[in-house]
Amino acid sequence: MAAFSLDPEQTTWCAELRRLASEQLRPLADKGEPGRVNRPLVAALGELGLLARLFDSGAFDLCLMRESLAHACTEAETALALQGLGAHPVAAFGTPEQRDRWLPEVVAGRAVAAFALSEPGAGSDAAALALEAVTDPESGGWRLYGEKCWISNAPEADLITVFARTGDTEPDGGVRTDGEPGAGGEPEAGGAPGARPGRGTGPRGVTAFLVPGDRAGLGGEALDMLAPHALGTFVFDGVPVGPDDVLGTPGEGFRVAMHTLNLFRPSVGAFAVGMAQAALDATLAHTAARPAFGGVLADLQAVAHQVAEMATRTEAARLLVYAAAEAYDRGDPDVPRRAAMAKLLATETAQYVVDAAVQLHGARALQRGHPLEHLYREVRAPRIYEGATEVQRTIIAKELYRRHGSRAAARPDRTGPARPVGRQVPEPEPATAPGGAA
Ligand SMILES: Cc1cc2nc3c(=O)[nH]c(=O)nc-3n(C[C@H](O)[C@H](O)[C@H](O)COP(=O)(O)OP(=O)(O)OC[C@H]3O[C@@H](n4cnc5c(N)ncnc54)[C@H](O)[C@@H]3O)c2cc1C
Repeated sequence: MAAFSLDPEQTTWCAELRRLASEQLRPLADKGEPGRVNRPLVAALGELGLLARLFDSGAFDLCLMRESLAHACTEAETALALQGLGAHPVAAFGTPEQRDRWLPEVVAGRAVAAFALSEPGAGSDAAALALEAVTDPESGGWRLYGEKCWISNAPEADLITVFARTGDTEPDGGVRTDGEPGAGGEPEAGGAPGARPGRGTGPRGVTAFLVPGDRAGLGGEALDMLAPHALGTFVFDGVPVGPDDVLGTPGEGFRVAMHTLNLFRPSVGAFAVGMAQAALDATLAHTAARPAFGGVLADLQAVAHQVAEMATRTEAARLLVYAAAEAYDRGDPDVPRRAAMAKLLATETAQYVVDAAVQLHGARALQRGHPLEHLYREVRAPRIYEGATEVQRTIIAKELYRRHGSRAAARPDRTGPARPVGRQVPEPEPATAPGGAA
């Protein structure tokens, strides 16, 4: 399939998703409490078979789901995406036991997942994370100490992918910033503030753990944010974890994180495109009907040209997102550049389009409860999370110079992978039977 057009089956599926979002999921979202996990909404996503599709189809389908759901129900879109973000490391790196224990629950919408990478001192510079995994000789495992911050679905999540610093595990102490282990590259400047010698700095010595939400010593609190979904902190006060809780290989947790973010980056763009399209559709309807100066708003050339600009930018963003997702599914080598471009353009475009839509609606758009008032709050955060716009630019530039053979690309940098990790880890068996809700 060419990236610039959907086939009839996909078009029908997207229309069906938009209908489900508006007729079945919107009412459930409206009953949710802002800032709290909406469990009936997550369960409905499971019952509709959409959560299963997160794990047995590719990046392109993920983008179509996120774009279509976002059109009528951003809460459903986000609930779906967070199940994927939190549980993708289990699907891709988990042991058969971890997968059997958790994936059926996630897919059914009975267990809520979270992805805990960011910390108060480590946001864009995720490799500066300081959450400490201290060896516990008694159990043969570790105890986790520290805090994760701005984590979606915290502190209510039932399973959490947690990234913690276990210390160097490679003989040469090297874990490359592109997620490839043991390259023995130059140690990076910086590192975790206060990181102890021998515990590793930067991406080295980070391990991914699957931590159940009811583990002893785990706490946290909700944060009151502009974005309407649940968001909070996790506090780790000696949380015990063992070898059975490791996702992938000890010391290679940064690879797990990058693998996950490479898949989800274009789909954040798809979320943004869905919001932009919703704002555009609302603007078309409003400007075509709103009486003004003896006609309607759409008769004014300034208004019509603004709508044309909104539509053109939305379409351009959509094409870039589709192209990036397709490249991921094909296993192309330039996924990081494409994913970064798609996320950057789509999230910035959505901000522009939603803002223009508010302007063309006038005061009514700012009234609490108006769909555009909701979108205006929703559209801001994606420009920051999963790599801020500026970080995407750094990734793009680094990739361009790397391809150009320039020295600029050789400088260690932990804003993102220098080459795709998406297909270098063997893909696991599908979490559900092939042919299930894929
Ligand atoms: C709604 C929401 C949901 C989130 N959900 C999760 C989650 O589920 N899991 C999780 O782990 N985290 C999550 N986060 C956290 C998110 O990943 C971080 O906010 C993000 O990585 C940015 O980190 P920061 O906020 O600490 O900003 P900082 O890293 O302090 O950056 C602030 C600003 O500085 C600039 N900047 C930073 N680095 C660079 C650079 N290299 N080049 C140029 N400019 C730069 C950018 O403008 C950036 O926005 C979420 C955040 C939000 C808002």
